[in-house]
Amino acid sequence: MTAEEKHVIKWGAKQPMIAPLRFPDLAARAYVCRRCGTAVARMAGEISVLGRPAVTTYENPAGIACEIVTLAGAMHLEEAPEGMTEHSWFEGYAWRQAACAGCGTFLGWRYDAVLPGAEPAVFHGLLVAMLRRARPGPPAESTS
Ligand SMILES: [Zn+2]
Repeated sequence: MTAEEKHVIKWGAKQPMIAPLRFPDLAARAYVCRRCGTAVARMAGEISVLGRPAVTTYENPAGIACEIVTLAGAMHLEEAPEGMTEHSWFEGYAWRQAACAGCGTFLGWRYDAVLPGAEPAVFHGLLVAMLRRARPGPPAESTS
């Protein structure tokens, strides 16, 4: 069921559907922290890294599957000061942990290229399960 159909059922067709944008500075659709709603990336920033789809599931050394989305830019994150290359899912990139600046929840990683000339030089890989997509529509709307 679409957001419009839900709206018609709840409010009737004559009531115009108001689009509550929680982040007026991000008219484009955004990824926000699932816990506190802080905007952390634009959905338009999804990129393919090393030829892989933007949303890919990786397994960490503990055997836990992590579905992450790779993004060309991110914001409102607190990042660890040092990067590590051990167990990196992206060859040639050092990872560092990134947490939501709004509530401190761990959201994923920032990746920095360790070799000059690598493209992209920096990107973020954030855990899909920890994010919500914010878009015009009822606040309860969620596509994940
Ligand atoms: Zn948060």
